[in-house]
Amino acid sequence: MDFLKWVLAIYTLSTFLATPIVSISILNKQELANISANFLNLAKSPKLFDWVVKIRRTIHENPELGFEEFETSKLIRNELDKMEIYYKYPVAVTGVVGYIGNGKPPFVALRADMDALPIQEEVEWEHKSKIPGKMHSCGHDGHVAMLLGAAKILQEQRDDLQGTVLLVFQPAEEGGGGAKKMLESGILDNVDAIFGLHVSVNSPIGTVASSSGPIMAGSGFFDAVIKGKGGHAAIPQNTIDPILAASNIIVSLQHLVSREADPLDSQVVTVAKFKGGGAFNVIPDSVTIGGTFRAYSKESFTQLKQRIVEVITRQAAVQRCNATVDFDTTNRPFYPVTVNNKALHEHFRNVAGQMLGIDKIIEKKPTMGTEDFSFFAEAFPGYFYVLGMVDETQGRFESGHSPFYRVNEDVLPYGVALHASLATTYLLEHRLKSTTQDQSVHDEL
Ligand SMILES: [Zn+2]
Ligand SMILES: [Zn+2]
Repeated sequence: MDFLKWVLAIYTLSTFLATPIVSISILNKQELANISANFLNLAKSPKLFDWVVKIRRTIHENPELGFEEFETSKLIRNELDKMEIYYKYPVAVTGVVGYIGNGKPPFVALRADMDALPIQEEVEWEHKSKIPGKMHSCGHDGHVAMLLGAAKILQEQRDDLQGTVLLVFQPAEEGGGGAKKMLESGILDNVDAIFGLHVSVNSPIGTVASSSGPIMAGSGFFDAVIKGKGGHAAIPQNTIDPILAASNIIVSLQHLVSREADPLDSQVVTVAKFKGGGAFNVIPDSVTIGGTFRAYSKESFTQLKQRIVEVITRQAAVQRCNATVDFDTTNRPFYPVTVNNKALHEHFRNVAGQMLGIDKIIEKKPTMGTEDFSFFAEAFPGYFYVLGMVDETQGRFESGHSPFYRVNEDVLPYGVALHASLATTYLLEHRLKSTTQDQSVHDEL
C-alpha cells in the first residue's frame, strides 16, 4: 500500500469517527471485565478457529527462512486485503505492518514472527512441510495465524477501538535480527507499547507464563580462526599445532564465567563449533571455532565480548599461533536482554487473569535463551509472554527446533484472544487515562 492510500484511509476513518458513534461509555467497566472472556469465546467459535487453523497449516506446508518469507508475507497481505485492513509493505524486506482503529494515538503493536528453520520435518502428518530441509519447528506459523485471527476480531470491533492497533509481521526472528530491521525502517516510531507471544512446550494448554523485568538474556555469536603451521603429525617440532592451541583456548574461555563473572550474575560462554584437520597424520594449518555468549546486563555482555577477544588472541599467542575473532554483527546482530515492562506486566495479569483465571498465570523464570522481540522492548515498553500448549492426552510435545516439533492447534484461540484483548483494553485504558488527564486540566482552568 502506498503512503497516499494510507493517509486517505486515515482521513476517511477520522472523518467517520468524528461523528460520535463511538463513545467510551460503550465499553463500560463491566464490559471491560468481559472483553477477554468474550474474545476467547469468539476465538473458539468453530468458524474463526477453523479459519485460523487453515492459515497455520498453509504456512506450515510452505516454510520460508529469514528474510525469504515472500509467500508467507503474500498470504498475510491477501488476508488483510480481504478484511479491508490497511497495511504497509515491504518493511524490512518481507515484513508487513497492518493498522486497525482510528489512526490516532495511542498506538499499540502486536507482533508475530514469520520465519521457519533449516530443518527437515520428521513429523508424518497431512500438512507436513513441502519444502525439503525447511520446517516451522518453532511455532512461528502459529504465531502468524494467531495474529491474523486477532486482526479479524479487532477489525470487527474497529469502531470501538480507542486508538490504533499495529499488526507487526516481522521477518527473520531466528538469528537474523528482523525486529532490528523493522525498527530501523522507522515505521514503528510512534508505538506506545508492544506485545509479543511464543507458544511453549513447557507449560499446559490454557496457561500463560511470564514475569516482569529481564526474562531472556542478551546474546552474541563469535567465530575465531586460529592459524598455526601445518605439517606431518609425526614430526610436530616442524609445525605450530593450531588444534592444541584451539583446545587451550576453549578451556580458557570456560574460565570467563567460572572465575571472572559474579556467580549471581548469569552468563554463558559456549564453544559449539570446532573445525580443523581432515586426516589422521596431518597437523592442519588452521582451526576455526565458534560459539555464543549470553549475559543479563549490558555491562556483563560488553565485558564478556572484550574478554573473549583477549583470551582467544592471547592464548593463541602463547601457543605461537595467530588468531582473529569475528562477531559478524551484520548477519548476526547482538540481541539485547529482553526486559518486560512493569506496567504492561500488570496489564497482562489483569487481562489474562480475566480470561483464563489468575491461577493459570505462571511466573516464568528467566532463561538464557534469546528473542529478537528484545529489540522492540528496548525501543519502547514491551511485553513478551509464552502460551502453554501441552496436553498429555495428545502425546509428547518436542521442544522447539526439533524435527519432531508439533504445535497443539488448540492453543491458537488463546493467542488470538489474548492479542485482541491486550490491545483493545490497552487502548481503552490509555484513552481513558488521557481523557481523565484532559478533564483535570480543564477543571484547573
Ligand atoms: Zn526458534
Ligand atoms: Zn521462535
